[in-house]
Amino acid sequence: MSNLNFLDAHGHIQFPAFDADRAEVIKRAQSERVKMIAVGTQAETSKRAIEVAKEFPDNVWATVGFHPNHLLKEWHHDKNEQFGAEPEVFDIKVLKALAQDEKVVAISECGFDLFYDASAAEIQGRVFAEQANLARELNKPLMMHCRPSKGSDNAYEYALNVLNDPKFKDLTKIMHFYAGSLDMAKKLADLGFYFTFGGVITFAKNYEEIIKYLPVERIFIETDCPYVAPQSHRGQRNEPVYMIETVKRLAEIKGLIFEDVAANLYKNSSDVFKIH
Ligand SMILES: [Zn+2]
Repeated sequence: MSNLNFLDAHGHIQFPAFDADRAEVIKRAQSERVKMIAVGTQAETSKRAIEVAKEFPDNVWATVGFHPNHLLKEWHHDKNEQFGAEPEVFDIKVLKALAQDEKVVAISECGFDLFYDASAAEIQGRVFAEQANLARELNKPLMMHCRPSKGSDNAYEYALNVLNDPKFKDLTKIMHFYAGSLDMAKKLADLGFYFTFGGVITFAKNYEEIIKYLPVERIFIETDCPYVAPQSHRGQRNEPVYMIETVKRLAEIKGLIFEDVAANLYKNSSDVFKIH
């Protein structure tokens, strides 16, 4: 067994997709030295993330946040993630109370999802700004979900508009599942952003240019499980241990040695999230 460590920077091990075999999935990850962050998407899934993190304290950490899709009437996310039947009303006080827990390592996921409806930007922006502010108050990283309209960088532009406020200057900013243009990636990198990439880079070519451009020090690998499994499990339920395949692909794209990339990734991501 190798002694490399890994951190799945963004996944949803607390979702019902893992209710039947969560302990086994975490054990598989543990046997390959893969730790994971369970990312909340609304109050209930944030609470569950903390519960799972407490149940598996050596392997799982949590975030709290309110995903922008939960503000829309139409439900664009997998039904699998819902605990209650209805979308909920955003309440920063609820998230703030949850975020006090010592297992909470970031505020996430929050941001802009304009893929289906760009007119949602205004209401999403208010909710995003409150969460960015919570991250600042608690001195925790902000891990964003920004999904632009097709062929656009609009979700990133909106996020930057909020974060341009000088009060957010020292906030640690992480762009989860980056899917914007190379120009926008350059702009975000200049502003000190980190980027996460998942299984999609093992089968889609359109991330290569951006990944080649970004320094490894600014990249984290995630699964976003149960979604978007890498090539060898494409279309199936994703799980944290599969991130190793994505790390291999990252090393390949960058023309670097896998072991070096893996060690670098783990050091950088565990430092940023203060996971040791
Ligand atoms: Zn996610």
